[in-house]
Amino acid sequence: MTADATSLRNAGSGRWAWAEIDLDAVAHNVGVIRRTAAPAEVWAVVKADAYGHGAVPVARTVLAAGASGLCVALVQEAVELRAAGIEAPVLVLSEQPPDTLVDAVRHGVITTVASLAGIDALAAAGAHDHPVQLKVDTGMRRMGCRPDEVLTLVREIERRPSVRLDGVFTHLAVADEIAHPVTAEQLDRFDAVLDDLRAAGIDPGRVHAANSAGALAHPRARHHLVRAGVALYGIEPGPGVSHLCAELRPALTLHARVSFVKRVAAGDRISYGLRHAFAHDTVVATVPIGYADGVPRRLFETRGEVIVGGRRCPIVGVVTMDQLMVDVGPDADVAVGDPVVLLGGGSAGDVATEPTAPVRAEEWAERLGTIGYEIVCGISRRVARHHVGGPVG
Ligand SMILES: *Cc1c(COP(=O)(O)O)cnc(C)c1O
Repeated sequence: MTADATSLRNAGSGRWAWAEIDLDAVAHNVGVIRRTAAPAEVWAVVKADAYGHGAVPVARTVLAAGASGLCVALVQEAVELRAAGIEAPVLVLSEQPPDTLVDAVRHGVITTVASLAGIDALAAAGAHDHPVQLKVDTGMRRMGCRPDEVLTLVREIERRPSVRLDGVFTHLAVADEIAHPVTAEQLDRFDAVLDDLRAAGIDPGRVHAANSAGALAHPRARHHLVRAGVALYGIEPGPGVSHLCAELRPALTLHARVSFVKRVAAGDRISYGLRHAFAHDTVVATVPIGYADGVPRRLFETRGEVIVGGRRCPIVGVVTMDQLMVDVGPDADVAVGDPVVLLGGGSAGDVATEPTAPVRAEEWAERLGTIGYEIVCGISRRVARHHVGGPVG
């Protein structure tokens, strides 16, 4: 389908700004990660509404593409999946407020524990033989029990009829910096924990340590399963592993239509603060998307570009809450309603035209001093998500 046909169909969202999610790209990425991590399973991390891609359609897609389970950050995210009829195993990745655990128990959501209080809270929530996974902090220092607490906590889990041990896991802090020595130290500490458990005759259940970068770059981290998040969406975990991400395809593209066109003269100034002055006469297109939609205000001063008429054009003037402006060039043949691509797009070029590189979330991230994760998670609810492709039926 051409970009324009897509845009026309999606103009029905009532706004000239929307995101398109290519579920076939998500399925393809699951295949890439499965082949890389095999024989480890892939558990798809669909927290934060699948990093802004839509948790339910993404969950259905990844499961059809061979993911074995799903991971979320919040019990309410797990409940959303169950409410959509998704019955696959779901793991909540950290200890949660006690009053959310009734829902976790009711919906058979695998719960993370990292303390005695966390284990006891499940009994209080009415759990019986409820699957829990123990989170061990091997160096990330975010949440998890100390390695020297593991044996005691596992024994407490074994003593209680409310819970049963389903797995033991940890989380890597620097997996995307391939040569960083701390990953090996974390994996050594984790292996020592597992050795202690096995020496005590305890089956740790599902053992896992790898996020996307761990799955791609650190074979030792793969264990029984990998928790793949950002790579599912075709975004690299960090520049240090981009060479391992060549086969991944970005799933999200961000679209809009030109809402206003005008000529400006050399010396004219534009947008709040009048911080951009035009050096030449040119044509300016207004695009009805802004920072309330997740297009960061600082994308102007960091020289962000959008694609209009197949060409990259600079954003001129600060991005406002609902609109931004682009310099489409003095000779541009641009009209109200023309398609604009903010993320994605690009073209191979031909005899007449230069190739245009797609705009990637990683490019925004580099300009803004952040990571691709924050870019896609930042696309707000005001932007409708249109899903294309994916499992049939
Ligand atoms: C978010 C998260 C992941 C997924 O990380 P990616 O880098 O997106 O693959 C895995 N494990 C835990 C504990 C997480 O919080």
